[in-house]
Parts: sequence; structure tokens; C-alpha cells
Amino acid sequence: MPYTFEKLPQLVDRREGMQERGEYVDYGVESKKVRVWHHSLTEKHLGGSDAESFADYHVNTNGWPGIGYQFVIEPKNQVEGPDGRMRARIVWCHNPGVKSYHVGNSNKMSLGICVAGDYRKDKLDEATLLSISELHAALVRDGIGDSDKSHNEMPGYSWKDCCVFDYHDAFKFKPVAKNKQPDQLPGKYTVQEGDTYWSIAGRDGAQGVKVNDLIVANPGVDPNKLQVGQVIKFGKAQNAYTRKPEEPKKPQSAYKYPLPTGVHRKGDKGAGVKQLQNALNAIYFKSGAADGIFGPKVEDAMRRFQMVYLPYEVDGVYGPNTRRKLQAVLKSKGY
Ligand SMILES: [Zn+2]
Repeated sequence: MPYTFEKLPQLVDRREGMQERGEYVDYGVESKKVRVWHHSLTEKHLGGSDAESFADYHVNTNGWPGIGYQFVIEPKNQVEGPDGRMRARIVWCHNPGVKSYHVGNSNKMSLGICVAGDYRKDKLDEATLLSISELHAALVRDGIGDSDKSHNEMPGYSWKDCCVFDYHDAFKFKPVAKNKQPDQLPGKYTVQEGDTYWSIAGRDGAQGVKVNDLIVANPGVDPNKLQVGQVIKFGKAQNAYTRKPEEPKKPQSAYKYPLPTGVHRKGDKGAGVKQLQNALNAIYFKSGAADGIFGPKVEDAMRRFQMVYLPYEVDGVYGPNTRRKLQAVLKSKGY
């Protein structure tokens, strides 16, 4: 009965035809207890990072009977599977029961699997991770070995930089489902096909940023020319909290910084202007001492506030929209 691993679409059978000088002994598949994971310490894109080159080295430099591993995974030779996914080629070098050379005194009980590459520098790509996880799953199903170890977890090899990738993590690798949204970073959004600021607005969760907020948070981004994969900041926009409609309105006297109603502009005086000055000062839009006079400093603070929170209404005049936004910002700061 063929092994499960033989059905892997990325497997090539090279048990015959690679460099050898003699025969390793086959003790039968039952002799294998441990699946030992290696990396080759040759950078994965280089000419020498494949099974043929390892066989040549093991035979002609080391003088061994043949290549030391049962399987070699080759990241630079990728194969497209029937599902359209790319996979790193898996070269099948010896029968599973063969006692080849890769872990000294433990050779007889150990199956050798080498992932070509130097993972002190290289990164495992998806095609390679997929081959590692599929080969591992197949070997488990086939009952070849009972456990997994890296080379340097075997007796006498703790000094080795082999393998340095996290093979347990690699076994769990699942390719991202097609059309699935990529994981979004906190406070950020990665632009998808067809997105506009209008479709992105509100995607930061409960706080619900608005289109204006996105424009403010991303000064270098042209909203009409979003690129797929571009990362947009929700950023400061989360401060621009707007009241949820179901929340009952509190009377202004309940707030630490009550806000005046109506319109206030340069030249106005009175208690309402004083409230406005206190509120702007509290959120660090400094408007000078709260003297109740809407002078140049208050107008300047008003403009600076509007530039950040109401970029379409920068006129230095306090009215209903500015009031609403100011209230929301005060609330977001805990007032
Ligand atoms: Zn090794």
C-alpha cells in the first residue's frame, strides 16, 4: 500500500539517480522513532540549496554512501498544486526505514528531513511552510516515527544551529483562504480591492471613525487614489468620538466643561466665550487666559481645533458643528 506522503503533489521520487557510492541499510519503517528536522545552513536561493547538491557533498566530500536525509524540501523549486497553491518541492531520497547519516548515534531511529535554507537569515515562505506541514501530516498518518525533534534536540547536538526555525509552528501552518481579509493591525486598516474612505469609515469598531477623521489621520494620502494593500491610520480619529444617538443627552451643567450654544466669533464677549476658552484649554488648544473675550488667540485656537477635527469648516467661528465636535473630543478625553 502506498504511503500517504507519496500522494503529495509536490513530491518527487529521487530514490534512484542521485549521487551515491554504496548502500545504506534498511531496517524497516518500524525502526524509526523520531522525525528529525534540519535546515541546510545554505541560503535558500543559492545554487547549492537542493537535494542534488547535498547528495554531491555527502558522497564526494563526506564519503557517505548517499545523501544523509530521507526528504529534502526545496524552497527555490516551487510546484503549483491542483488547488493552485505553490508548494516547495519535496525530494524523496531514501525509503523511510533506511539508516542514513544525519544524527550520529541516533541515525537508526531517526528519519531525516532537511529544509533547504539558512533560517538564521532566511524566512520560511508560505510555499515552504505548506510543504513542511503537509509532509509532517502525511508522515504522522503513515505512522513513520512517533515524535518530532530538531537536530539540536538530539543527543550530542545541542551546539548545532539546526534547525533554528520553529518546526512546531510550521506544522500548524494553514494557508490563508483565498479572498480572506488580511489580519488588520490595531489602529490601522489595510486597503482592500474596491475600498474608499466611505467603505473604510466605521471599520475601527465601536468608535466608528468618519470619512473626515480618516482624512485628518492620513494627511499624505489622496482619498481618491487608495491603493490595495496601502495601510491607512485610524490614528487620532479615534479621539473624534461622536455621540451614539441612543445616549440620553446630559444637561450642560453636568459637564466639567459646559459649552455655550449659538454662534461665537471674534469680537464676542461673555460667559459663553469664557466656557469656550476653558474647554479649548482643557484639550490643549491653548486660547489664553479665560477672560471671556473672543480675541485673536481664541480665534486661532478655534481654527487649530477645526483643522484637526473639522477640516471642511476651518473658519475660526464657533457654531453647532464645532460645538458637537468639541463636546465629543472633551468626552473622549474623559471630561
Ligand atoms: Zn542538521
